[in-house]
Amino acid sequence: MENKVKFTVTDLAPNVWQIHEEGAGQLVDCYLIVGETRAALVDSLMSRGDRRLYDIVRERTSLPVVVLHTHGHGDHVGAELREFIDAGCEVCVSEKDFPLMGSFGAKYPTEIFTKLRDGDRFDLGGRTLEVIELAGHTPGSVAFLDRENRQLFSGDTIGSGSIWMQLDHSTDLTTFLDGMKRLESTVAGIDNLMVYPGHRNQSPVQLTERYITDMRELAEMLVSGEMVGDPMQLAEGGARFPTALVARYGMVGALVYEPSKLK
Ligand SMILES: [Zn+2]
Repeated sequence: MENKVKFTVTDLAPNVWQIHEEGAGQLVDCYLIVGETRAALVDSLMSRGDRRLYDIVRERTSLPVVVLHTHGHGDHVGAELREFIDAGCEVCVSEKDFPLMGSFGAKYPTEIFTKLRDGDRFDLGGRTLEVIELAGHTPGSVAFLDRENRQLFSGDTIGSGSIWMQLDHSTDLTTFLDGMKRLESTVAGIDNLMVYPGHRNQSPVQLTERYITDMRELAEMLVSGEMVGDPMQLAEGGARFPTALVARYGMVGALVYEPSKLK
């Protein structure tokens, strides 16, 4: 039977590719970044696709590959990860997201994962990815910053059009705000920062450092009570999350949160 899940590869920048999954109810992205001595795959999609993700990577590099996960949700730690594990690739995720893993999608024993920590650096040869903890969407969400090349791979905690922080395991907004302040100061001075999220299709425009400032300001206004969101519409999932509120500001398409979890 033909596999209806399609993987599409897009060149984003020299030695950086976006691999997009479409067809199993989720539109999701992962990213391949190739250095001089090593390559990194940021997230591993959700479903089995029409082609093997491992082959897509191997067509572009023969270097050792480290698989770095932005968080533990099953649409980013997927079925295609199996071949990378079998090939002996190092696979990483924050320990704080271990309890979430396997909740949907593929299941892997957490012992196989290297634990990501804030400040970890992955030297790929000529380019480095720096781990920035950004708890919010999940407690173990992280972003990966390539400072030299002005790229931030952000998963779901920021960057996708609608940021879901109303989930049971999402952190309170104050914790998220603390992370956003640290991120904003970490990227200060980087112009034209390209933010590459886990669901890139949700943002109609390329997000930049301006988005990070907008998100920090929005979180600040919500925590202080200066701004209050609107009820989540049915089309956005309001029936499933009847008490959730949605706030919009600047480049931030939507931030969904529970008003009981400001602090
Ligand atoms: Zn997620």
